[in-house]
Amino acid sequence: MKGYAMLKIGESGWIEKEVPAIGPMDALVKPLAVAICTSDVHTLWEGAIGERHNMILGHEACGEVVEVGELVRDFKPGDRVLIPAITPDWNSLEAQAGYSMHSGGMLAGWKFSNFKDGVFSEFFHVNDADGNLAHLPENIDPVDACMLSDMVPTGFHGVELADVQFGDSVLVIGIGPVGLMSVAGASMRGASRILAVGTRPVCVEAAKKYGADEFISYKDGPIADQVLAMTDGKGVDKVIVAGGGVETFEDAVKVLKPGGKIGNVNYLGGGDFVTIPRVEWGVGMGHKEINGGLMPGGRLRMEKLGSLVSSGRLDVHHLVSHVFDGWDHLEEALFMMRDKPRDLIKPVVRIEG
Ligand code: NAD
Ligand code: ZN
Repeated sequence: MKGYAMLKIGESGWIEKEVPAIGPMDALVKPLAVAICTSDVHTLWEGAIGERHNMILGHEACGEVVEVGELVRDFKPGDRVLIPAITPDWNSLEAQAGYSMHSGGMLAGWKFSNFKDGVFSEFFHVNDADGNLAHLPENIDPVDACMLSDMVPTGFHGVELADVQFGDSVLVIGIGPVGLMSVAGASMRGASRILAVGTRPVCVEAAKKYGADEFISYKDGPIADQVLAMTDGKGVDKVIVAGGGVETFEDAVKVLKPGGKIGNVNYLGGGDFVTIPRVEWGVGMGHKEINGGLMPGGRLRMEKLGSLVSSGRLDVHHLVSHVFDGWDHLEEALFMMRDKPRDLIKPVVRIEG
């Protein structure tokens, strides 16, 4: 089979590989559509997870089951499925402790294009098919379904980590596709006011549709100063971090009210330390909580998020700014994600149909 791989840091291309063998609980899946992620850019060009040789990239896809192991109960060849970016080992101790995304070690539930070949390939392997796949609702287009692999669960996890409650004022730092889903999730959870940091018109327009009320540019000076000015010096109840670097935590702590919570889903690709401003952190006693997490994967989560889209309560289509047809365009889409033209939110490559 052919797959689009990271040859080494900074170099990528098509390679030939054996079709993956599946174990008794696994499935072999062929993609119907794949999406490119900022994380693919971190991995390939920034070397964020270290060196990888001939590893097939990609972790966002919607697909069709080709083959299943003899112990798989609920999926069969021909089924169209949602595939989460994170595919935990559900019998691990970490999963039993409630942190399935770290099954087998920190961040180890993230397997595609990290510890094993990813989804930019004619076929890919899914471990624990009954635990990780979900049936694709009939009314969801495979292109939109790719947003359920990572963007929706990650953006929503930021909302969970920040523990957004009815009536909360919420600041979302970064409104790329993940931050946009944090805006949507905060709105669904009953936020009364959503401030968003971001200026690209295409993102601002989408953020308005998802429920953001006011916008801030990080190029106009410190985020904290702007937020405090907009809130009469009071700050906000919750902060979700979905963009920027280590320095965003300083702003996040400064604008948080006592008792507030920060939910970070941003991938901190550089810098050795996250600094917490001592005084604004209540000299250590401010009850300002900082949570950061990898998105939860798994079937239950995928089924629930799939229902949200199929019922019409969440329209993910505003995230899809570019659709390409066929593998021939995969590289173009990947390079586009790296170069981030101003009208880009998320590029998707349709493989069939
Ligand atoms: P993106 O690059 O499309 O969006 C990030 C946005 O932040 C951009 O629009 C950028 O302009 C903006 N930004 C840059 N500097 C900023 C600053 N100082 N303040 C505010 N905004 C700033 O990426 P994305 O796809 O939306 O993903 C967001 C982050 O989440 C990435 O780091 C990605 O790797 C990470 N991620 C994490 C998980 C997880 O499970 N936790 C999953 C997927 C992606
Ligand atoms: Zn992703």
